[in-house]
Amino acid sequence: MKLYHQIKSQLRLQQRGGVLTDRLVQSPADFGLGQLPKPLQPDAVVDSVCGFCATGCSLKVHLQQGAAINLSANPDYPVNIGMACPKGWESLAPLAASDRAEQPLLRDASGQQQPVEWAQAMDAFCSRFKAIQAEHGPESVAFLSTGQIVAEEMAFLGALAKFGMGWLHGDGNTRQCMATAVVAYKQAFGFDAPPYTYQDFEESDVLVFVGANPCIAHPIMWQRVMRNQRKPAIVVVDPRKTETAMAATQHLQIQPKSDLVLFYGLAARIIELGRTDADFIAAHTQDFAAFERFLADYSLEKAAQASGIAIEELDALAHLISSGKRVSFWWTMGVNQSYEGTRLAQSLINLALMTGNIGKPGTGANSITGQCNAMGSRLFSNTTGLLGGRQFEDARHREQVAARLGIPAARIPSENSLSYSEIIDGIEAGRIKGLWMIATNSAHSWINQKRFERIREQLDFFVVQDLYATTESAQLADLVLPAAGWGEKEGVFINSERRIGRTRKVRQAPGQALSDFNIFRLIAHHWGCAEWFQEWSSPEAVFKILRDLSQGMPCDFTGITDYAALDQAGGIQWPYPAQQVPAILAGADPKQRRLFEDGCFYHPDKRAKFMFEAPRAMPEPSDQDYPFLLLTGRGTSSQWHTQTRTGKSAVLRKLYPQHAYVEMHPDDAARLQIADNAPVSIRSRRGQVVATAVLLTTVQPGQVFMPMHYRITNQLTADAYDPYSKQPSYKACAVHIAPFIA
Ligand code: SF4
Repeated sequence: MKLYHQIKSQLRLQQRGGVLTDRLVQSPADFGLGQLPKPLQPDAVVDSVCGFCATGCSLKVHLQQGAAINLSANPDYPVNIGMACPKGWESLAPLAASDRAEQPLLRDASGQQQPVEWAQAMDAFCSRFKAIQAEHGPESVAFLSTGQIVAEEMAFLGALAKFGMGWLHGDGNTRQCMATAVVAYKQAFGFDAPPYTYQDFEESDVLVFVGANPCIAHPIMWQRVMRNQRKPAIVVVDPRKTETAMAATQHLQIQPKSDLVLFYGLAARIIELGRTDADFIAAHTQDFAAFERFLADYSLEKAAQASGIAIEELDALAHLISSGKRVSFWWTMGVNQSYEGTRLAQSLINLALMTGNIGKPGTGANSITGQCNAMGSRLFSNTTGLLGGRQFEDARHREQVAARLGIPAARIPSENSLSYSEIIDGIEAGRIKGLWMIATNSAHSWINQKRFERIREQLDFFVVQDLYATTESAQLADLVLPAAGWGEKEGVFINSERRIGRTRKVRQAPGQALSDFNIFRLIAHHWGCAEWFQEWSSPEAVFKILRDLSQGMPCDFTGITDYAALDQAGGIQWPYPAQQVPAILAGADPKQRRLFEDGCFYHPDKRAKFMFEAPRAMPEPSDQDYPFLLLTGRGTSSQWHTQTRTGKSAVLRKLYPQHAYVEMHPDDAARLQIADNAPVSIRSRRGQVVATAVLLTTVQPGQVFMPMHYRITNQLTADAYDPYSKQPSYKACAVHIAPFIA
């Protein structure tokens, strides 16, 4: 309680002065550590990276008398060059929502969530989790984190739970979006390293988008494509005629999940044509000969049969890819969220490698990330990988981390955490009894939603830490910890092109809500492990720890001395090693750097690896009882994931349908006597929902599409996973559709 009062009294002092700072618990008097950051001026314009998607646009936040009153897009930032999408423009609205969580809530004996003071919340948090561990063992608790909080906070969470509190298991919602790309890159390149810079959108001759709809999912990236002056060929591979497919020069409207056979067929044809980059393959890759032998079973004929695309069209694409000077491959969830996503992502990496399209302007096998700090999570969440892209299983890595943190190496687990799905399985099996969820909403977003609701009943203690007490998950919680949101705290995000950018505190969190950073400090204090975190006194102090931990790793950014250096540079891409800074600054364009320009990858032999495997059967194809395939994806650029934040903006709400809808082909609708805008019942093996039918030829006959943002969508999805990345396969499951009769 004393610590909380210290925090709040500092806040009151700041508010009286009409000046916002990030001082919070950084008082040297309290902790004897930490430089106080310079306070913002009451009337100022502050640059801050957006807190929604991984594009990482910079927004200018306009303050008046210390209050954030407006936003504009930063014209000088190399990412968005003066542009922003609707979510960015409305970033302040969710913070002012009337249902912000302002006080901890603890469920009482009658089952009601009741407001309590932080001291009581902390007592409950520590005593209940410790009691579970005492009764069921140290591995009986877990946390589920997020790609939405700043890197300093996610590192603090992972370090606190694993090194301080002795927890073994924790994963994040990035498992739902980026795990496949992580594994694909690690296996192929030796490190999780998206190679591109956004300038590549403007410098490609051929852009191939697979399972990606940047027109609405990453609209500023799409604007970068539109700035391309090279008259590029834009090829979209997607079972739906998406907004991006409509804007492309070519759309391959494939049958769902035929993509792996398609890309193997294209690779086989390029080899047959003798149009590989033999010099690059020989100098910079390994296992091409084995890949070539594997491809003997694949052909354009096989690809055409599986995908439904004419051989001539596929042959033209093979020629286009193999003759283009600058060819780039881009993918998002249509690839990652697949039961064979890792091999699918690697089939694109293979195409880039075999044609020498990597390490040069306008090229690359490029995974576009989702959440604002998905890349930060990949390096620093300390969940299924040790800080800085290291491995828990590697004793040398554990010693490096222990040495920098000043903790005994024995405090660092020597085995990896369970993944998200394995944590859910563990709860169902009764092995995990306590769950702490931070800034994510699994009760909405996790696959096969009803199962998640059922397993919640098996938890002895469930804590949710979030901005709102009204999310589906928070309403199920035994304890709700009120957290500050984007704009109410300091830290860095790492965007899709590896750019580290600063996000700023421009607003006070409401009531007793605290930044996640300060909640972690409180927990460390109450748990009794604060001694290990004395250096973790402010976001900037932690940034410096992370900077040091990057040393010697592919993500080395030791050249970024502090926040001021980031401010001055306007965002910096990793790698940025201290010793290479002069050369980087003297380079052609220090603000647009791509990886592998020297042809050296991160495996010990510096060669990239061809990875391949025979396609698997679709886990749940359509059949007589469930004759439609349900596809899921983003709805509009105004909606973000579970709509926890975008749903709070009156402006954004006007830009998309409020009620769940399903896109279906008019021929199917006519056969089933379903009218446009009529309610329909959609049933899968896991649940039944009602949505509005929207008749469109964007979907093929036998397929339907529902946006992921509506809660009911995941009542239908099937819990199948990629075996390597453990990422859920949200994109295709079998459903039955009929007119809804009330
Ligand atoms: Fe924010 Fe992404 Fe929109 Fe840019 S594109 S303004 S980062 S949500």
